[in-house]
This record gives sequence, structure tokens and C-alpha cells, in this order.
Amino acid sequence: MSPINPLNPGLPADGHLLIVGSGLAGYHVARGARLNGHVGAITVLGDELHPAYDRPALSKAFLSGTAAFEHLVLDDPENPLDVTWAGGSAAVHLSSEPLGVETADGTFHGADSIVLATGAQACRLPISGQGTFVLRNVDDAVALRGRAIEGQRVAIVGGGFLALEAAATCVERGAAEVTVAASEHNPGAARLGAPVGEAVRALHERRDVAFTAPARASEVNDVPGGQELVLADGQTVEADIVICAIGATPSTAWLREGILSLDPVTGAILCDDTGFTGMPGIWAAGDCAQWASQASGLRPVGHWQEAVEQAGILAASLTGIPPAPFQEPYFWSEQYEVRIQGAGRIGLADEVRVVDGSIETNDLLVSYLREGAEVGILGFNRLREVKRWRKQRQVRTEPALVA
Ligand SMILES: Cc1cc2nc3c(=O)[nH]c(=O)nc-3n(C[C@H](O)[C@H](O)[C@H](O)COP(=O)(O)OP(=O)(O)OC[C@H]3O[C@@H](n4cnc5c(N)ncnc54)[C@H](O)[C@@H]3O)c2cc1C
Repeated sequence: MSPINPLNPGLPADGHLLIVGSGLAGYHVARGARLNGHVGAITVLGDELHPAYDRPALSKAFLSGTAAFEHLVLDDPENPLDVTWAGGSAAVHLSSEPLGVETADGTFHGADSIVLATGAQACRLPISGQGTFVLRNVDDAVALRGRAIEGQRVAIVGGGFLALEAAATCVERGAAEVTVAASEHNPGAARLGAPVGEAVRALHERRDVAFTAPARASEVNDVPGGQELVLADGQTVEADIVICAIGATPSTAWLREGILSLDPVTGAILCDDTGFTGMPGIWAAGDCAQWASQASGLRPVGHWQEAVEQAGILAASLTGIPPAPFQEPYFWSEQYEVRIQGAGRIGLADEVRVVDGSIETNDLLVSYLREGAEVGILGFNRLREVKRWRKQRQVRTEPALVA
């Protein structure tokens, strides 16, 4: 039976499992523990007041107004998990003896095992105007959704998928002008390869989205009649609304100077490939964590599938069940009528080849190769090919349990 490390004894069958963070990973750890037969109490602490929900639609269907919050809720109202949800108070202190977490309202929550799943928080510019929005949680999306977009000038800061999804949604909601300020000429080119960066830019230019010359943004100021986005090279963009999507940083500030090892640069909680932190009884998963294979660059961070998969592996390890093997990494994005899907270890590629379609259309298939062998695939509206590719590679090496 695993895990076998005496520091990592797992959770007694009737033990109290305390999960910090009621997001995607937190929900799936709770669900996995129950599915694996855990009969003890499970408490999920969250700082949000909403029931656990899924985030991807926040920059897509929810922002465009075509999906309601009920569609995002993770738990099944017909068959809810047997879990105590304690929302509205952030965890502020973690202790190992006794094992537990204190929340901002002064309550101490003792536990037999703790899973940290606090996700990440949106990075912000040091100076932001009144009309500057971020998109990380449902309150952010509600605030932005409540703003009239039609006829407005929108400036988007950032060149990642979140920024580009927001740009697409604003175009679809009738914005008069959408300008993207990114640090790359073709957004995503460095990470996903030149053809993909070109295709993404072309997709947005066909919808009249403008791009500034590549530069980092430094601040947004309130000016008469709107906002002024200032870029580090002196360019300025006048807008009514600014959406800042410049990345996210692990929500671990409350763990600094504490008992866990955090990555010195990102602040992510360092774990092995079962989610074990090295501190007896304490585990972590999702966007707040960096598992060993992510540190070595073999797996991506900040994607939906990664959080769900880690939650499943962690729940299995915690309850003494052999975890399922890692699947190939996978992510997706939706921009206008295009579904972009990527699978595999794209970051390892030394060659990127367009194998079908073209960058001028919404139809593209790209292959990623390393020393001639295919390690990944990316498609624009290539659902069948990506699905087939993933299916063919479903079994991979089982993650090493702590020895
Ligand atoms: C707008 C948006 C769109 C996305 N779209 C895609 C997509 O299209 N494809 C894709 O692959 N991925 C997408 N992602 C990424 C994906 O949603 C995340 O990787 C995933 O939500 C991570 O899950 P998590 O449980 O680690 O964190 P989260 O889902 O962020 O949950 C963490 C929870 O912990 C809470 N919390 C934080 N600190 C504390 C504390 N101290 N005490 C108590 N609670 C705390 C947070 O408020 C939050 O409720 C998107 C993310 C966002 C924000």
C-alpha cells in the first residue's frame, strides 16, 4: 500500500481531512477522497462566499453573458458531496503541532491531514485606474460583466490566453475598439511556437483588434474621459476600460516565513509528485503548488487539467490507493469561433511544424517535435485530431511515490 514514507502516512480512514481553498483542486480532492472511500469528516475552508465553481467560463461564456453562475458550480446539487463548506474567512496561519489552520475570524481548525489548494491570485500593475479590471474570480467577472462594453474603447494588458479571451469577448460584446498591449509581437509565440503566435495575432486582427508595439505595461492612470494605459517604452493607449491579465501568482503569502518550503521566485508550495510537502500531514495541489515534475519543466502550471489531475493523484495517495498515471498535459482556449487545444509536452520541442491548415484561417494543426519525435500537438478547431492524439498516449510513467 502506498504511500510508504513514514513522514507521509496518509489519512486514517476516519480521520479529519481539512482542505484549504474551495476551488477546482479543493473540490476534486474532497470528491476523490469520498470516491476512494474516506468516511471521516471533510471540511473545506474558503475565503470566497460562493460555492466551489469552475473558472474557465469567467473569461468566456460567463463574461459574454451566455452562462449563468449555476452553470459554473462544481458540486452536483442533486447529489452533493458529504463535506462541510466553511466559506468567507481566509486561512491566515498553518501549524504542524497541533496540525491545523487558523482562519481570519480567529477559529482554529484542527485536522489529521491538510490539503492546501488556495490557487493563485491575479497580478496587478503597481498603479491602476478606477476602470481597471482583473479576471480571477467570479466577483471580478461580475464587475466586468456589469460594465457596458458596447461602443467602449477597451485596452487589454497581457498576451496570454486569458487576455486574448477577454479581447475576443469584448469584441463580441460590441466594443468600439479593442487594443492589446503584450510584450510579444505575436502573442504566445515564445511558448507555443512562431506559427501559433502568428495565427493567434491574425485571428484577432481579422476582428479589428489592434496590437501595440510589444512592450510591458507600467501603469494605468485615470484621465478626463477615461483611462490612460502607459507602457514601459512610453507608448500610451486611451481607453474607457482596461483589463489587466498579466498572469497570476500562487496565493501563498500567508505561508511565508512558515513551516513549508516555497519556491523562492514564484512562492509556490514545493511538493513531490503526489502533492506531499515533506511536512507530515500537509499536502498541496493546483495553482498554489509546484510539484516536482513541474519544477523540472516536464509539466505545465496554471491549467485546469493539471489542477484536476493533481487533485486525483493527491486524493489517491492520501487515502492509500495507487494513483492513476499522469496523462499528457492538456489545455484549451476559446476565442471567437475558434477552440484552441494543446496537448503534450510542448515546452520540450525543438521544432514546430505546421502539418495541416494555415495560419491565415481558423483551421490549423501544429506538431511539436523533439529530436524528430512528436512530443505535442496543437490545433485550431481540430477537436478530433487532438482527442485522438491524447487517447493514443493515455498511459504514461506512473509518478514516483515518495521512497
Ligand atoms: C478566468 C480564468 C479562465 C481560465 N480558463 C482556462 C482555460 O480555458 N483552460 C485551462 O486549462 N485553464 C483555464 N484557467 C485556469 C484554471 O481555471 C485554474 O488552473 C484552476 O482554477 C486552478 O484551480 P485551483 O483549485 O488551484 O485554484 P482556484 O480555482 O483559483 O481555487 C482556489 C480557491 O482558494 C481560495 N483561497 C485563496 N487563498 C485562500 C486562503 N488563504 N484561505 C482560504 N481560501 C483561499 C481562492 O479564493 C479560491 O476560491 C482559467 C483561469 C481563470 C482565472
